[in-house]
Amino acid sequence: MAFAITQTCCNDASCVSVCPVNCIHPTPDEPDFGTTEMLYVDPRTCIDCGACADACPVDAIFPADSLLGPMRAYADINAAYYADQEPVDVLGLAPNFHAWGPPTFDRRIPSDFAPLDVAVVGTGPAGMYAVEDLLLHTGSRVTLIDRLPVAGGLVRYGVAPDHPSTKKIGETFARFHDHPRVKLRLGVEVGRDVSVDDLAERYDAVIYAVGASSARRLGIAGEDLPGSLAATTVVAWYNGHPDVAADAVDLSAERVVVVGTGNVALDVARILTADPAALAGTEISPEALSRLRTSKVREVVLLARRGPESAAYTRPELLALTQREDVDLVVDSHDPRIAETIDAAAPGDKAALLRDLARETVDWSAPPRHGKRRIVLRFHSAPEAITGDSQVRGLRVGGGTEIAAGQVIRAVGYRGTPVPGLPFDEQTGTIPNEGGRVRPGTYVVGWIKRGPSGGIGANRACAAETVGSLLDEAVAGRLPARKRQGRKAALLGRRRGG
Ligand code: NAP
Repeated sequence: MAFAITQTCCNDASCVSVCPVNCIHPTPDEPDFGTTEMLYVDPRTCIDCGACADACPVDAIFPADSLLGPMRAYADINAAYYADQEPVDVLGLAPNFHAWGPPTFDRRIPSDFAPLDVAVVGTGPAGMYAVEDLLLHTGSRVTLIDRLPVAGGLVRYGVAPDHPSTKKIGETFARFHDHPRVKLRLGVEVGRDVSVDDLAERYDAVIYAVGASSARRLGIAGEDLPGSLAATTVVAWYNGHPDVAADAVDLSAERVVVVGTGNVALDVARILTADPAALAGTEISPEALSRLRTSKVREVVLLARRGPESAAYTRPELLALTQREDVDLVVDSHDPRIAETIDAAAPGDKAALLRDLARETVDWSAPPRHGKRRIVLRFHSAPEAITGDSQVRGLRVGGGTEIAAGQVIRAVGYRGTPVPGLPFDEQTGTIPNEGGRVRPGTYVVGWIKRGPSGGIGANRACAAETVGSLLDEAVAGRLPARKRQGRKAALLGRRRGG
């Protein structure tokens, strides 16, 4: 029996490189890599060795015959990825699909390459994949800087607490914090405690992995009313982020509208409807947990401006939501296109996951019904205004329908913020770069480089590209000469724990 990759796949391809029979795809050099929602084991080729399960940083890989309950679906999901392969040989495999490609040597580092001193700003996944790459492939010394007193970035403060396997990747990153060639400087903010110029003068190269820490705006009336808040605030709140107050999220309304259907919207909907007892023992902030225990929230509406075929969530996350027994998941069938799309969806389409859900034409002027908590998916509904005078009363969507709600959470994406001293593209909320290079000696990686999309593992290839650009310039002798040596420790303060 083969192994199968399941819901929490982080796509960083750690499993691909250890598979002795190349049965996990897409591999990083295949065109689909980065576009599929997860990676898949070909059950026809898997030899059951378990190397992938050992290497997986998020515990997502199991023997298919050990999967229980809702997780059993992943045996078929893995196999389905290979269903279109032309069966041409005795094993039913497409020609050469599992053959090894020729080795690629896209980095040329001379044997006498001198170690670099590199500062990496940001301890989230993007920064840590860059650190890993530098430490494992060069003799570089790395100073790792974060403005917060605890390392981890979005793994610590962004991943939902009911996803402990995903949070586990933080342990993989944390092993580099104590690496002999790493200095960790926490509580140091670029622009406040140290400037871009200071870092450029003292390090051979600086990599900014500062993420996208603010929220995109909707640009509609009522957005700043009390009761309207960004999902970034809610996510930070349940993760105990030091910048967000324990009472930042008001749970006194029975209905909450979440604008957006990305995985962040799903995270927020899940946590707000969760049984608090199920969250006890997770890394949720104790204050958030205690407020969830007295929460009045009964219904969360996930609002999509497009149809069910174009929802932004990934299939594994929606699948997990459909399998929750403590919460009803309902589709608002207010528009005939919704049922048509769901009924006509092919098995692999996103809309097909909604086929077995209850459909209802919801009366949005009435309060949510009592009984089980529920999540309602409302498609084809662009938000037009958040209504209310001194407090959110609801949200008006196209066609004039007003969804009565005491809280509106805008989960329409993160947005990068400028780093004083570096260029910034206001349109995209990113730092302009070419392959991660901003200018000689200054690089970016992660969401501040490519925009706020893609899960944790997407940062591995992103970091490889950035570190590649840095090393190319170093090897070509194009890094600016360091102006000042030493005194880095004084400049960046003493190491603080986390
Ligand atoms: P996202 O996936 O880009 O979703 C943004 C959502 O906001 C979309 O539904 C989008 O609709 C909607 N939206 C944007 N502008 C809007 C507007 N003006 N009016 C109405 N709706 C609007 O962003 P995200 O949820 O913040 O997630 C960011 C990344 O992190 C994603 O790659 C996500 O998969 C990843 N992530 C992964 C996990 C996980 O794996 N468990 C958890 C959290 C985040 P349209 O599609 O119509 O534009």
